[in-house]
Amino acid sequence: MEWVKLTDRLPIFDDNLRVLIYTAEHDFNGEQFFDVRATDLYDGPDGESQSEVCAAATHWAERPSPCFYCGGDGEIETDNKGPIVPCPICSP
Ligand SMILES: [Zn+2]
Repeated sequence: MEWVKLTDRLPIFDDNLRVLIYTAEHDFNGEQFFDVRATDLYDGPDGESQSEVCAAATHWAERPSPCFYCGGDGEIETDNKGPIVPCPICSP
């Protein structure tokens, strides 16, 4: 996984894209990883719309693909005949 400094480059501005972010030097219980929308890393028009974790993030990375949880199709089959539910990781 390639971690990119936020000061070097931002992910593409895409509401459907989710990325991992890393807070290295902040007090969210030390080093933490978060899963956020790529657009959350951009400042809003007022420059204050970033969440606290996004403002504290130092690096971001593209999420591993395919999704480790659903295999990348966005759906979880609960069992052979059960309902198919949206993946909680990669479905909004
Ligand atoms: Zn998934």
